[in-house]
Amino acid sequence: MELKNKKILVVGLARSGVAVARFLATQGARVTITDMKDEAALAPFLERLADLDIDYELGRHERDSFLMADLIVVSPGVPMDIKPLLLAKAQRRPVLSEIELAARFLTAPIVAITGTNGKTTTTTLTGRIFAACGFETFVGGNIGNPLIELVTSKAAVGRVVVELSSFQLEGIVDFRPRVAVLLNITEDHLDRYATFQEYIDAKLRIFENQTAEDYAVLNIDDPLVASCAANLKARVVPMSRLQELAQGIFCRDGALVFRWEGREERFATDSFLLKGVHNIDNIMAALASTLLMGCSAAQALAAAESFAGLPHRMEFVREVNDVAWYEDSKGTNVGSVVKSLESFGPGITLIAGGKDKGGAYAPLAGLVRERVSHLVLIGEAKERIRGALGSLTDTHLADTLEDAVVLAHRLTAPGGVVLFSPACSSFDMFKNYEERGERFKALVRSLDDEAHP
Ligand code: ADP
Repeated sequence: MELKNKKILVVGLARSGVAVARFLATQGARVTITDMKDEAALAPFLERLADLDIDYELGRHERDSFLMADLIVVSPGVPMDIKPLLLAKAQRRPVLSEIELAARFLTAPIVAITGTNGKTTTTTLTGRIFAACGFETFVGGNIGNPLIELVTSKAAVGRVVVELSSFQLEGIVDFRPRVAVLLNITEDHLDRYATFQEYIDAKLRIFENQTAEDYAVLNIDDPLVASCAANLKARVVPMSRLQELAQGIFCRDGALVFRWEGREERFATDSFLLKGVHNIDNIMAALASTLLMGCSAAQALAAAESFAGLPHRMEFVREVNDVAWYEDSKGTNVGSVVKSLESFGPGITLIAGGKDKGGAYAPLAGLVRERVSHLVLIGEAKERIRGALGSLTDTHLADTLEDAVVLAHRLTAPGGVVLFSPACSSFDMFKNYEERGERFKALVRSLDDEAHP
């Protein structure tokens, strides 16, 4: 792909925009960056590009810059349906996501991971297994390190693992992962998609350019994921927690079994540090992907066993008066909260709420009725959640996270669990889910053991 002297517009200047602009400029392209945020808001990113000759259109998008560009590269945070991008596409200007651009310059095989939930956990674990098996591995994408940084660094890697959001998948053209993983599809981001079907279609694009030489790892326990298997060109590697499979990876008698083209490997699950049913899915996906791509079972198992998980995902905080407190601030949609509730028995106090994303809370109804003794609701979404679930259990509204923690502390009987799994994003009260999770943990750590009624 020739970039020298090409007029290239980079849309969106955060970490990925910086990395893309740097790569393009060093390839001799004429780069313009546009962002709706102004110079003051973008100052930390602009500083990092000060040594390069780049034009800026900040605080606005100029229609002509989109229409005159030889190529437009869109950062992951920018919706593909903003008006100037739609106009440019209508006039056949090439529009790519950062992932597409980067992949065109990479030769190492790529494992790409998507799904509504579990992407970061599975991507991280997959990367750890490859590394433990001796492969130089780059882990990136939606997880924080833009893939283009690998291209710029010219590092020689043996394996690439990328986490892909539906937004990044919307901007691919030829992107072809050697292994594509689809973990699950449940409602999310309905604030950014007109319909659920549009979101599903974006996710399925991960398989679009695969051929019979590639693998599609599919969680067939998820009916939506299972239903796409018949239409794929890649070899389908099913995974299931619920049924034994002739080929694929599945659970049986306390072990995970990988069965593929005459090979059979067993992995005992009792020493995994990752807890929760959803993490069995994540481990199965990571094992299947790495075993298919040259890893030995013994080394893969050792790496999986030593992986303790990531912060803000069902993180155990502490016990107070025989009540266990868990922080699951990354539980930002209903599908993830379903899995978090499934991981405990009855006696849960659930703290939920935040910024509403427009989806239905009804899928939580059965589990709330069965396992949630107290529901404490916060944030913009609290009235909507109360409307959907409030009649099913003892329900309270709190004005702040602090009030919610105090209330949960008072309500939960010894032997119970307090789970903070919001089912909403954090942007109504916090900068991001990390800040929300840290705040929760600080509040829980400051609880007084003696103060329990
Ligand atoms: P993502 O990167 O897709 O947001 P994470 O690994 O960060 O996924 O996990 C986000 C949340 O989703 C966690 O808080 C956890 O409760 C839930 N989760 C993790 N893995 C799964 C899974 N395989 N299925 C359903 N929910 C999951």
